[in-house]
Amino acid sequence: MTVVPIRQPIDGRHRPMFIGGLWVDAASGQTFETRNPATGEVIATVPRGGRQDIERAVAAARNAFVGPWSRFKPHERQKLLLRIADLFERHWEEICISDTTDMGLPIARARGNANRVLGMLRYYAGMATALHGETIENSLPGDIVSFTRKEPVGVVGAIIPWNAPTAASVWKIGPALATGCTVVLKPSEEAPLTPLLIAELMAEAGVPDGVVNVVTGTGAEAGAPLAEHMGVDKIVFTGSTLTGQSIVRASAGNLKRVSLELGGKSPVIVCADADLERAVPVAAMSVFANSGQICIAGSRLFVARSIHDEFVERLSAYAASLRIGNGIDPGTEIGPLISQRQLDRVEGYLRAGSEEGARLVAGGTRLSDGALAAGNFIAPTVFAGVSDTMRIAREEIFGPVISALPFDTLDEAVRRANDTPYGLAAGVFTRDLATAHQLSRRLQAGSVWVNTYHAIDPAVPFGGYKMSGYGREGGGEHLGEYLNTKGVFIRID
Ligand code: NAD
Repeated sequence: MTVVPIRQPIDGRHRPMFIGGLWVDAASGQTFETRNPATGEVIATVPRGGRQDIERAVAAARNAFVGPWSRFKPHERQKLLLRIADLFERHWEEICISDTTDMGLPIARARGNANRVLGMLRYYAGMATALHGETIENSLPGDIVSFTRKEPVGVVGAIIPWNAPTAASVWKIGPALATGCTVVLKPSEEAPLTPLLIAELMAEAGVPDGVVNVVTGTGAEAGAPLAEHMGVDKIVFTGSTLTGQSIVRASAGNLKRVSLELGGKSPVIVCADADLERAVPVAAMSVFANSGQICIAGSRLFVARSIHDEFVERLSAYAASLRIGNGIDPGTEIGPLISQRQLDRVEGYLRAGSEEGARLVAGGTRLSDGALAAGNFIAPTVFAGVSDTMRIAREEIFGPVISALPFDTLDEAVRRANDTPYGLAAGVFTRDLATAHQLSRRLQAGSVWVNTYHAIDPAVPFGGYKMSGYGREGGGEHLGEYLNTKGVFIRID
């Protein structure tokens, strides 16, 4: 991989947003600050976009959709996506630094995401020339030919959270470009910088003006007007279940299509025959990676009673061994939480765990010594003796907190694992093939990982059951989310 020098140092300067191919400020002239969560420093100001800016961006996206972009052939969209992937590859270090500085992701982890993100772009590039309808034999009288056409839905509003700005942006924009849609992306107010960098790279790769727009702003001021906009044909949303519900309500005005990747409280089941050498670190990092700010965090850890105490002991030792600090240090394994608000929220759960009678066996505190003082750091935490009804076992914490729960039989483990309103992901550790198959069938979750976790591939669908959302990202179904199917009948006799 060729690495180009950093051309966009993160230096506290103002970053405009991107509408209709132009770098612009909010119509109101208002701005907000974004901070490095590891140091508390203000690293940039960005426009505080609002309703008027959303209007402008949706109009630009509509003009592009009906304009020259509509005449791009599939192979041209394919070439564009491949150029974007190549440009991302060359600028990957910049993207990593941006994510690390704006949302705290350890840079080693950001670097490790390259294959996944570049793979997504190249997968969509492949799919761009594979879109097709079907010819269908009908039973109508007369000689009538019938077939389907796949057509882009139009203007897509994409609203994303702060915990994975690069992957989330690419997961929304990639399929839009592959299918011929246009996009208005509303990044999280907590981490707007990488989506702006991504817009810059896409423009440089030759994405026509108005095809990709980025409006920075808060959920209420920019997200809600986008979700309810009558000129938006579809919303793709990743974020909390609560916000997802308000997006669905906001979509009712024009019954725009919606797909939702929402929260989770994912179970991990460690069977008595599990390979502990593998299960301990993987189960730990299923939560601690990205400081627990992962939708698929395996935060309910069901451990067979016969190995429970040993497992908890090894897990706690592992948690205590993790290197915590500013993500810009390549040796850092655990970075900060995104904000003071998130820090307060997680500390609230730490208190709730102890108050409800769980036994704290690792971490459990804010870390504020020395270089960590100005950042939002929480020690990787393990609670044992957790019961299913405790808040830490029911609610999404979005912090580095594992609740260990012993179980006696697999039937019981499955019943308890499924006893949640969420259904995003689940993990299983076992050496027994039959158990692996049986549990992967019985767990109500959009992704099940056996003897691994976090495996996400562009070709494999990802998404939720139950209140973790609907619609799929990745795999063949993904582009279908951005397409309308039209039935055409032509009488030829
Ligand atoms: P959030 O729901 O608070 O915000 C997500 C986005 O929605 C932000 O851009 C925000 O500005 C915007 N928003 C907020 N209120 C809005 C409204 N009323 N109308 C329109 N937009 C609005 O979520 P968050 O705190 O940024 O992220 C954490 C949540 O995201 C967690 O619940 C996590 O599980 C979830 N998440 C899910 C996935 C997944 O793939 N399932 C991936 C990452 C994060």
